[in-house]
Amino acid sequence: MSTRDNGGMRVVFVTAELAPVATVGGLAAAAAGLVKELRALGVDVDVVMPDYGKIELADEHAVEIDVPAWVGTASIRSGVHDDVGPLHLVRAAGLARPHPYLQPSGEGWPDNAERFFRFARTVAAWIDADPPDVVHLNDWHTGPVLAALSAPPTVLSIHNLAYQGTTDARWLTKIGPRGRHYEWWGATNPLSGAIALADRIVAVSPNYAAEIMTPEGGFGLDEPLRHRWGAVTGILNGIDTDVWNPAVDPLIAAPFDRRDLTRRDDNRIELINRLDLGSTDTSPPLAAVVTRLTDQKGIDLIEPIVPLLADIPMRLAMLGSGDADLAGRLHELAAQHPEHFAFVEGYDESLSHLLFAGSDLYLMPSRFEPCGLTQMQAMRYGSIPVVTAVGGLVDTVPDADADPRGGLGFVAARARGEDVLAALFRAARRIRDPRRRGALQRRGMAVDWSWRVPALSYRALYRDLVG
Ligand code: ADP
Repeated sequence: MSTRDNGGMRVVFVTAELAPVATVGGLAAAAAGLVKELRALGVDVDVVMPDYGKIELADEHAVEIDVPAWVGTASIRSGVHDDVGPLHLVRAAGLARPHPYLQPSGEGWPDNAERFFRFARTVAAWIDADPPDVVHLNDWHTGPVLAALSAPPTVLSIHNLAYQGTTDARWLTKIGPRGRHYEWWGATNPLSGAIALADRIVAVSPNYAAEIMTPEGGFGLDEPLRHRWGAVTGILNGIDTDVWNPAVDPLIAAPFDRRDLTRRDDNRIELINRLDLGSTDTSPPLAAVVTRLTDQKGIDLIEPIVPLLADIPMRLAMLGSGDADLAGRLHELAAQHPEHFAFVEGYDESLSHLLFAGSDLYLMPSRFEPCGLTQMQAMRYGSIPVVTAVGGLVDTVPDADADPRGGLGFVAARARGEDVLAALFRAARRIRDPRRRGALQRRGMAVDWSWRVPALSYRALYRDLVG
């Protein structure tokens, strides 16, 4: 079953995450957003992912998959999951777990590499029995598919190069006839082999595509990526603009659009009251952060800024989940500076929407950022981003003081405390003028951040590969 009679194209999309079925981070949102938009463009997409358990399908049917003995028994159950459409779930030993990657302690499952090798080997056998026009792989979990599959043409998306799933070398001879391509400094690297073997490699932003080929941004894989430079491109992620729509968002206090920004104020008042951040006056301005708590996000650059907030003056409201040490330090800072800094620990979708809708500025001092979604979510809601000049932040946030068209936010040249503070000062000064502030907000809200534009680029890439 290759190209369909109607002239359409069939793509098998392989992923470890898909919102809302299995969500850990940006990968889930990216996979869901892209698949939905590709289908809207008429591309026939079969999504295949691990069966982590407890996923209900309508019209379900299952097939046994013929796999090598080391995989054990494997099957794929197919059906329809609401919101997501047709879905294929791989069942193999070790895949069904309460969390895709982590034990309850927060550490990775010790057999993670092996689990995804079984997944990938099963997917390869399934594809081989009924090849589509294009196979689209995502991140390391899916990389080993190419050890056991040489056709059809393949796209590898790199959502975050920091994760590679490297494990011991005994897998090289098992994962498939092309397993030797995954040899990496005496180990098995599920991503390095896919980088060598994929027909196209797509980073999730143009600037990230350039960064990953440098020693600073390559997480050890810059050399194999440089060897493939002709195959490497960048396509920016999008956001789901139906979910992220301030005009109809049920999760915020007051809906608004760019023609009437004064209606934003109720969100700001609600936020300040809810977080107990003092006066609901428009001064001092309110900045927000919505984040995972990891080194990547530059939380350690925010910490020393907190005691200085009173001098700017500025207030900062932060929502974050992840690293327990970082959370502990942020709780302490909030206790020391209650009038200027509020920290809510956890993953809270509804509060995140209110933070974007009610803040004046959005702070994102990432050390690296493959694409970044929250800066787009912020701009869609009229919160002006203050970011570092890394990865997709460069592609999405032109600086207001450098861009001839007026820019969309403020960019710190480097992920250093003084640069971030300087960018915050520039932002604070600019938004004091309501006219200039409104112009920045409206420009950010007017940009099309949807998946439509990136989905067109992916479809063009597929067509190019199919010829
Ligand atoms: P990453 O995938 O590296 O965490 P992204 O900016 O690409 O960062 O995507 C993060 C996604 O998760 C966004 O949709 C953001 O709104 C959401 N998010 C992150 N942290 C939280 C949180 N603590 N509470 C609610 N939503 C969050």
